[in-house]
Amino acid sequence: MSSLRFRLSIRYHWLGVILILLVLAMLLLNFDVNSQPPQAKQTGSHAVILMYHHFGEDHLPSTSVRLAQLDAQIQYLADENFTVWPLSKLVTALIEKAPIPEKTVVFTIDDAWKSVYLEAFPRFKARGWPLTVFVSTDQIDRRYSSNMTWAQMREMQQFGAEFANHSRHHNSMIQTEHESYADWRQRVLTDLNHAQKRLEAELGQTPTNFKLFSYPFGDFSEPLANLITEMGYIGIAQNSGTVGHDSDLRALMRFPINERHGEIESFKTKVHTLPLPVQQLSPFDPVVKNNPPQLTLTFEDPPTQTIQCFDQAGTPLTLTWLSNKQLQLQSVEPLAPPRNRYACTQQTQSGQWRWMSHSWVIPASSVK
Ligand SMILES: [Zn+2]
Repeated sequence: MSSLRFRLSIRYHWLGVILILLVLAMLLLNFDVNSQPPQAKQTGSHAVILMYHHFGEDHLPSTSVRLAQLDAQIQYLADENFTVWPLSKLVTALIEKAPIPEKTVVFTIDDAWKSVYLEAFPRFKARGWPLTVFVSTDQIDRRYSSNMTWAQMREMQQFGAEFANHSRHHNSMIQTEHESYADWRQRVLTDLNHAQKRLEAELGQTPTNFKLFSYPFGDFSEPLANLITEMGYIGIAQNSGTVGHDSDLRALMRFPINERHGEIESFKTKVHTLPLPVQQLSPFDPVVKNNPPQLTLTFEDPPTQTIQCFDQAGTPLTLTWLSNKQLQLQSVEPLAPPRNRYACTQQTQSGQWRWMSHSWVIPASSVK
C-alpha cells in the first residue's frame, strides 16, 4: 500500500516538473512574442508630412503646385484610403508613443499665402480633411494682399485647419557671425513670443501642451533646436524623410511638394516612403564646421540591402563603413553656401523606398 502511494507520488512529482517546464516554456514563448514590437513598429508607426507653399501660382514653380497636380494628389490619397491627420495629432501620437495608422499623411503649408485660402481650403473642406498652416505673423498684421487675413484663418479653423508659429519676421533664426550669444537668444525669444501672442490673440489658445514652430527657410542649428524645445515648441524642418516614434522632436522631417515634385508618380513614391532605420545620426547640428562635412549613421541592425547616398544635386557621396552598423558619408567637394543636404535611400525587396536626409547650413566662412 505504502509502496504504491510512493510510486504514485513520484509519478505526480514528475508530472509537476513537466507542468512547470511547460508553463516556463509558454512564458518564454510569450516573452518572445512580446519582444517583437520593434518589427511591428517599423511597419505601422510612421507618417509622411508634406510641405506646400503656393497653389496654382504657376510663375513660382519651386514653391507652387499646379492645381491639376493638387487634384490628382488628393484623389490618389482618397482612392488609396490614406488617413489625413493635422500635425498636432501626429505630434501627440509621437509624444505618447501611440499607434499611427498605416498610410498616414499630414498636409502642412508654410507662409499663409492667399492661394491657401482660395485654392487649397475649398478642396480640403470638401473632403473634411485637416490642414496645418505655419504663419509668419507680420505678413498678416501688415495686411499684405498676397497673404491670407486673420478672418480667413478663423473661417478655416471651423473646418479643421490649424495655424502655428513660423516666426514674426521670417528671418533665419540661427545665430549670425555678428551676433553675440545673448543677443541671438534674445532675438529668438522676442520674435517667437510675439508671433505666438499674435496667433493666440487672433485664433485662440493652442489646445495642446506643446506648440509647433516651423523654422523659416528650414534653417536650424543645434543651439536653436534646443532653445525652441526649452520654449515648449516642437521643431518642424524642411529636410525630406518620414517621421516615427524615434524621430527627433526638435526637427521633424517633411517632404517638400512643388511643381517639380508634384507629378503623381513622384508623389506616390513620397507618400509610400518608409523610414530608413537609423538609430543615431551624428552630428545633429546642421551648421557645417568642416567643409565638406562628415555624417555618421548608426543603423538599428546591419542593413541587408544596398544604401545609396547623394548630395542635393544628386552627386553620389563617399560611403565608408566604420562597422557593419555604422556608415560615414562625405561629399567629395566642399558644399557651397548657403544650404545643401545629404540624402540616403534604400529599396526594399517589395520595391518601396526607405529614405532619410540631413540638411546642412553652410556659412560663407566655411569655404576657402
Ligand atoms: Zn516660410
